[in-house]
Amino acid sequence: MKVCFVESDAWTESRVRANSAQFDAVFVEADAEHAAVPADTEVLSVFVNSKVTAAVIDALPQLKLIVTRSTGYDHIDLAAAAARGIVVCNVPSYGERTVAEYTFALLLALSRKVYTALKRVHDEGVFHTDGLTGFDLAGKTMGVIGTGRIGCHVIEIAKGFGMHVIAYDPFPRAGLEEQMGMQYVTLEALLEKADVVSLHAPYLPSTHHLLNSQNMPLIKQGAVLVNTARGGLVETQALVDQLASGRLAGAALDVLEEERYVGAGQTLLKGGSPAEQMRAVLADHQLMSYPNVLVSPHNAFNTIEARERILDTTLENIAAFAKGSTQNEVK
Ligand code: NAD
Repeated sequence: MKVCFVESDAWTESRVRANSAQFDAVFVEADAEHAAVPADTEVLSVFVNSKVTAAVIDALPQLKLIVTRSTGYDHIDLAAAAARGIVVCNVPSYGERTVAEYTFALLLALSRKVYTALKRVHDEGVFHTDGLTGFDLAGKTMGVIGTGRIGCHVIEIAKGFGMHVIAYDPFPRAGLEEQMGMQYVTLEALLEKADVVSLHAPYLPSTHHLLNSQNMPLIKQGAVLVNTARGGLVETQALVDQLASGRLAGAALDVLEEERYVGAGQTLLKGGSPAEQMRAVLADHQLMSYPNVLVSPHNAFNTIEARERILDTTLENIAAFAKGSTQNEVK
């Protein structure tokens, strides 16, 4: 089987080569049209910044399987894949604790101004605390949106910090309130009450701009937002507006709307992105300039242990398909 890995690095390549005797692997750079992917590719392995559109699928007549090295699969046109009978698989579980830990890395960086403090000493050689007063997490209310695998670990860690936890999920888990000592509330009530709003829902058509210009003004005065899920869950301009008004005291974002275009101005210009994407990218750049906004480059998954689990499951997904069965299929 001809397997093409897009968006891989040297570590991924060497681990795949050591474990892929049964297939023929090639590794190519990511580009918007996937022009570097060989036309005879049968299995395409991508990461979150590689959009697999109907056009990409059309250009690969031998394609039988798409394996994303991620949990989220919103970058893949599932309908176009299904129309060609192409199976799509993900890595449903590799790092719920990994991402939950990173959520708190970002939250603490925000609540204790860690980035500014470290930068001051490291870059400026200045050793004083002016302007570095933060806030305690203990006693604050954590609002968790999405109580799946990652959300539950976030709740557990928040309880460890002595936080009160409320959560919103349209599919609440039976028994979770008693088990974890938290309360389910409506999305509106969560926004009104939480001191920290943390997103852990998948990005789907139904969750596009889950936080938007209609409901973001409900956010509690002085609250902060953490997003380690997907950028498209938040209407970027509405977030900018809440930061500009001072209602939202800060945001820590591992993901941005249209993040694959951020830092790729040339691609954006050449590709002639639609106006809505262009607006989101411009708002992203505005966000990144705010001192009370911390942005990291979709890094929450990125531990050695999680990367090993991701790649092992990806190779198992390919091996299962080669043997005529499927595992971790998404539809
Ligand atoms: P999961 O499927 O276990 O849980 C998602 C939860 O969200 C479910 O309980 C579901 O009912 C809930 N949900 C669905 N629609 C909702 C809505 N409208 N409002 C609120 N909740 C809703 O997923 P998970 O493993 O916990 O991962 C969550 C998301 O985190 C993934 O979909 C992925 O996009 C993102 N993620 C990001 C990184 C990263 O590196 N930044 C890494 C892994 C996962």
